[in-house]
Amino acid sequence: MNSIITRFAPSPTGNLHIGGVRTALINYVVTENAKNKFPNSKFYLRIEDTDLKRSKNEFKNSILNGLNWLNINFDDEPYLQSKKIKRHQEIAFKLLENNKAFKCICSEESLENKRKKNLENKINDKKLCKTCENDEKIQNSKEGFVIRIKIPNKGETLIKDIIQGDVTVKNDEIDNFILLRKDGSPTYMLSVVVDDHDLGINLIIRGDDHLNNAFRQNFIYTNMNWLLPKYAHLPLIHGNDGKKLSKRHGAIDINDFKEKGYLEESIINNLILLGWSPDQKNEIIELKEIINKLELKKISKSSSIFNFDKLNFFNNYYINNDNNYDRFYNYCKNNLTLKKFLETDEKKLNRIFNFNKKELNYFKNLEDICIPYFDDDFLTNHSNLLDSNFDNLVSEFVSILIDINIWDKELISEKIKTFINNKKVKFVLFGKPLRLLLINSENGPSINDILYILGKKNSIQRIKNYISKK
Ligand code: GLU
Repeated sequence: MNSIITRFAPSPTGNLHIGGVRTALINYVVTENAKNKFPNSKFYLRIEDTDLKRSKNEFKNSILNGLNWLNINFDDEPYLQSKKIKRHQEIAFKLLENNKAFKCICSEESLENKRKKNLENKINDKKLCKTCENDEKIQNSKEGFVIRIKIPNKGETLIKDIIQGDVTVKNDEIDNFILLRKDGSPTYMLSVVVDDHDLGINLIIRGDDHLNNAFRQNFIYTNMNWLLPKYAHLPLIHGNDGKKLSKRHGAIDINDFKEKGYLEESIINNLILLGWSPDQKNEIIELKEIINKLELKKISKSSSIFNFDKLNFFNNYYINNDNNYDRFYNYCKNNLTLKKFLETDEKKLNRIFNFNKKELNYFKNLEDICIPYFDDDFLTNHSNLLDSNFDNLVSEFVSILIDINIWDKELISEKIKTFINNKKVKFVLFGKPLRLLLINSENGPSINDILYILGKKNSIQRIKNYISKK
């Protein structure tokens, strides 16, 4: 093998799911790593759009945009499976010609009845059609048939999977599945193998929900005398309740993560640690390093839990890792609420971002945080903390603020300290109610930061409004 050829083969029947992203990511990483040794290695994207009813262009775009956003780059243009239907049909007929497949006219209903009866009588028989294969008239018919593959009943099939290890299935457990439907359309089982063969895919990395299919697909390869690919079936991702990750657990479409304001690195860092860990103390790992370090065979074969708290931890880290205001700025341009704030007062928004980012899980959190700062009609809510002691203090404090000529953070901080020392009150006894007065929240940045964000005019106005309402 002097190149590694991989692919990500999503069906555009839904938005790009976080589990799909992980499959794509691992294909990409493994191929990028292989390129160091075998520069001709390739990672392809194949859109499996043969289900014309369920496939939609918007889903195809969601897949392309998601991969693009995460910098999971594929080689060449995306391949469209629907363009290869003639080739799939050709192979079905070749298998028929070579006596590796047969025509079957059994109705779905009659097969279903057999299935039910077998179940009742506890008979395990996967090859439901036994008669058509030996009926000359059916085999000579020109239409009205499906093409089924021939699978022996004896023996067993072994898949050597890089992640799952050696897995064996008895051939009598494998059904003689359909290759070509009555209307001439190829099934997934056929199309995927023909396309993988034609693209030269020699390493298939996909979810382990396809492991069963590998045993079936194996027969198309061997019956066509095609070289088998290597397999690595990834365990699926579960939610924290141990069930397959779904909408119930939170965001699962990559677009939702983007809309919430997660950074690419956080998604990638979080996904790559599901079932794998780099040999290092720190869990922070970026794409370049992942490409150097990931080994398929070290990925665990048991399913792993997608942890949203962990994702938030990574995102908080990456938001704070460097300045990142540009990325926040770009995020705001695409977020209706933040865009308004950006257009009203970018400087203020920038300050809010900087003074709150230590606590941020994702950019969207700032929508709510910003509201009190941008509220022109801001009114302080009633609270027991705002008592007469505080009222006396704040009435004096406002004149100190009025005297500050340059609205500088350090200076504001200094003035507060001096005021508190002079008045001999504990900082919290003044700071906590003042924070409430200014933004209606007990949490948030320090008082001097809040005053700095609001600006001189606005801060004084809020305090005066408060006093006048007493
Ligand atoms: N199109 C299939 C899916 O979206 C994947 C096929 C494969 O990886 O073999 O589930």
